[in-house]
Amino acid sequence: MKFFNNGMKTPCGEIHIIENRCKGCGFCVTYCPRDVLEMSKEFNAKGYHFPQVKDIDSCICCGLCEMLCPEFAVWATTIKEKEVVEVLS
Ligand code: SF4
Ligand code: SF4
Repeated sequence: MKFFNNGMKTPCGEIHIIENRCKGCGFCVTYCPRDVLEMSKEFNAKGYHFPQVKDIDSCICCGLCEMLCPEFAVWATTIKEKEVVEVLS
């Protein structure tokens, strides 16, 4: 499902996934508009498959994965946010 494919580069930093919070619903993978994520073949501590990053360069930091995740297990940070986190840590 790729409908934001306008060729523009966006300042996305990285995707964060808390694997053991995931319940394997797949919403983040299915509804990501840029096909950034895929389900891992591995299982987490609860016995579910969890998402992993397939193509970080395509992420536009839209935040949809974060909004849809019922377990608050996935979110994206921009480069600016990432720099702030690194400076504070
Ligand atoms: S923020 Fe999430 S939903 Fe949006 S493009 Fe990136 S991985 Fe996909
Ligand atoms: S939306 Fe959340 S609970 Fe569902 S697969 Fe993605 S990370 Fe796991």
